[in-house]
Amino acid sequence: MTKPVRVRFAPSPTGPLHIGGVRTALYNYLFSKKNNGTFILRIEDTDQTRFVPGSEEYIIKSLQWCGIKYDEGVGIGGPYAPYRQSERKVIYKEFTDKLVENAYAYLAFDTPEELDEMRKKKGTDGQPLQYNAVTRLQMKNSLSLNSDEVNKLLKNQVPYVIRIKVPENIIITVDDIIRGKVDVNSSTLDDKVIFKSDGLPTYHLANVVDDFLMKISHVIRGEEWLPSAPLHVLLYKYLGWENEMPAFAHLPLLLKPEGNGKLSKRDGDKLGFPVFPLEWTDPVSGEKYAGYRESGYLPQAFVNMLALLGWNPGTEQEIFSMQQLIESFSLERVNKAGARFSPEKTKWFNHQYINMLEVEQLSDLFENELKKENIKTDRDYLVKVTALVRERINLLTDFATEAIYFFKAPETYDTKVIKEKWKENSPDLLQELMDLLNGISDFNEQNIEFEVKEFLVKKGMSLGQVLPVFRLCLVGSNKGPSLFQISSLLGKEETIRRINKAVNTIKK
Ligand code: GLU
Repeated sequence: MTKPVRVRFAPSPTGPLHIGGVRTALYNYLFSKKNNGTFILRIEDTDQTRFVPGSEEYIIKSLQWCGIKYDEGVGIGGPYAPYRQSERKVIYKEFTDKLVENAYAYLAFDTPEELDEMRKKKGTDGQPLQYNAVTRLQMKNSLSLNSDEVNKLLKNQVPYVIRIKVPENIIITVDDIIRGKVDVNSSTLDDKVIFKSDGLPTYHLANVVDDFLMKISHVIRGEEWLPSAPLHVLLYKYLGWENEMPAFAHLPLLLKPEGNGKLSKRDGDKLGFPVFPLEWTDPVSGEKYAGYRESGYLPQAFVNMLALLGWNPGTEQEIFSMQQLIESFSLERVNKAGARFSPEKTKWFNHQYINMLEVEQLSDLFENELKKENIKTDRDYLVKVTALVRERINLLTDFATEAIYFFKAPETYDTKVIKEKWKENSPDLLQELMDLLNGISDFNEQNIEFEVKEFLVKKGMSLGQVLPVFRLCLVGSNKGPSLFQISSLLGKEETIRRINKAVNTIKK
């Protein structure tokens, strides 16, 4: 019988969740749902020096915004609680002691100065020395010292760490679903610290112990953890859990839009797009980082974009609902090569989703945008405006700028349009146009278009001589959808008021 699928997302609360982290959570979620499994949120907070207040809440809110629901974990509990590693301290101690008892780990009393001293020296290969099979017996630890010396140090409460004893020159194989078999020679690894002098385990030990205790079937995480995987495999062996070892899947890196290199936290602000799902204010520096939510993205679009950043469905399909993603997802279709992030494609997805929403629902979202600008509006009118402008909108936040003229008469007029289109006779012409519009009793799009065009024929003028100036009066620029639609939505009175205002404001 195959093991039930249990996967976890295990972020450390060291700051806001980067989009790469959201993608890891998403792939774990999709994989678990596809396989009727369980998705767990575990907070790995054993490195207290890197703890950043507010990051755990940020992680949870980000997952909520994306619609990535977890079945067990911090905040909701579950059969393997607690799910915050700082609350599981005693558990790790027990397993560390077992490793020491079985001579798979040892106590090391070296001071930071002594460690620096060692690392300054070079080995026969010209590389800086590491704490490993070659050097460990020259260092101050329970392998190099006799038991009396060790007991004395312990009695004197000399701080110590516990290091794993990595064997020399054996091949450790990491079997990875995405990358195949990855062989690593143990001599390239060092005797990593697994338990620190502050009484807390390091990431490696806590991670392996919890994955085992929480019955994790698949470890799906970023490529940056691949170098740690051989050590984890060794820990599973040392702890006697080799048969229960989860399957590994290391996801490809997210790359910068241009050129190579990992997409970093700083890139967003440098290159002008968010790298975080939600806005984040650094609690120490007060620095603000943009978020997708605040920048006008829909979570469905954001999730769809992320899903395709490293996974391909094997078809041309690009638009996927969460349910469709669950149905199509497989780890076998995750690419090995890094995935290049594209801000343009992300906007494209958002545009698609904005145009797939029901007009009523989109109107609600646009209403929020107007509220931010302190603009109140009539619901029916807003729904009509929404239907008219939606295809021109990429970001929800575009609405307040793109469609502002539906709610406020222009206060300034595009000087370039004035220069090109506003002629000496424009005021007279616009006066005639106002009289004409005033005479239209049923002020709808068709009637306006018919009357204006007939007027132009009578005057022997082209559309280009009149419509740009007319538009300038209503919109303030040469932008926007059909002028006749704009005018009919604004209504007769407002249209005439705006033409009047423009005539009085624009002086050539
Ligand atoms: N705590 C690690 C992180 O912050 C988890 C890595 C893993 O999933 O094993 O990414």
